[in-house]
Amino acid sequence: MAARVIEARGVTKVFGELHAVDGIDLGVEAGELFGLIGHNGAGKTTLFRMLLGLLPATSGEIRIDGLPVRGEAFRQVRRRVGYLPENVVFYDNLTGLETLRFFAGLKGAPQAACVPLLERVGLSGAAERRVRGYSKGMRQRLGFAQALLGSPALLFLDEPTVGLDPEGIREFYRILADMRAQGVTVILSSHILADIQQRVDRLAIMKSGRIQALGSVQALREGLDLPLSFEVRLAEGAADALRSALERLPLGPIELRGDRAWIQCRREAKMAVHEALASLDGRVLDLHVREPSLEDVFLGYAGG
Ligand code: ATP
Repeated sequence: MAARVIEARGVTKVFGELHAVDGIDLGVEAGELFGLIGHNGAGKTTLFRMLLGLLPATSGEIRIDGLPVRGEAFRQVRRRVGYLPENVVFYDNLTGLETLRFFAGLKGAPQAACVPLLERVGLSGAAERRVRGYSKGMRQRLGFAQALLGSPALLFLDEPTVGLDPEGIREFYRILADMRAQGVTVILSSHILADIQQRVDRLAIMKSGRIQALGSVQALREGLDLPLSFEVRLAEGAADALRSALERLPLGPIELRGDRAWIQCRREAKMAVHEALASLDGRVLDLHVREPSLEDVFLGYAGG
């Protein structure tokens, strides 16, 4: 695939009066793990569907692997694209294995891939059970297996971890890491920011159909200059020494409760706070630095 696998320019989607996607420019590089986050209704699913050629854009241009997302040539590209929709719909009367075989037939993927794929997503024990009896997480796993059919070079995953238990989430990201090691490009949306922040290469934050911010989690963090916080456990009677060690630094109010103190500081003061705490010798018993979380970053860009 071309270095830039997904290329979108000035893409909009208007439903009646509503600008669901409102002028998006986006480039995703080959082999990237790219995250898309945003409030409910921000336009993520609509953007996904347009990128996949399932929904025509009102205006703008989208290319996947260098080709516009329509026409005969794109149909060939589409075969190398896996998609896990937000709400996966299955025939309840089919078993998990029959379901996967059915999708393999539609996609022209080898039937022999179905059993190993079910195993890969942790469903081999339920392969012969009808999908009617599957839990939400099991359906999600089956949907993921369906997206992996045909060894896709590009994967679109719309809220893939919804309904998964913690082990399922960890396993899911392990599979994604394997995919990435094989050079697969992955674009996923999620509301579970704590999971996504460790794993994506870059992230776009969408709000009201627009991209508010785009970059690595660290770059987005630094772009907002959000405060860091230190949580310190103090030896008995060390509060005054702490106050005086920190008094010359540009900090917010120091919060003291029992043997704990919380200190907020801007990034540029981080090392100075460290040094001041180190100067207190044995009077600081423990220390924990909390960087702004992706929630803080998200709310900073997308608003409450
Ligand atoms: P969520 O996180 O809740 O899944 P999202 O970011 O995926 O949200 P979309 O599903 O893309 O958001 O919806 C964006 C906006 O477009 C919403 O206001 C939605 O109601 C509207 N919308 C989506 N599809 C249609 C449609 N077919 N007809 C009319 N409006 C639509």
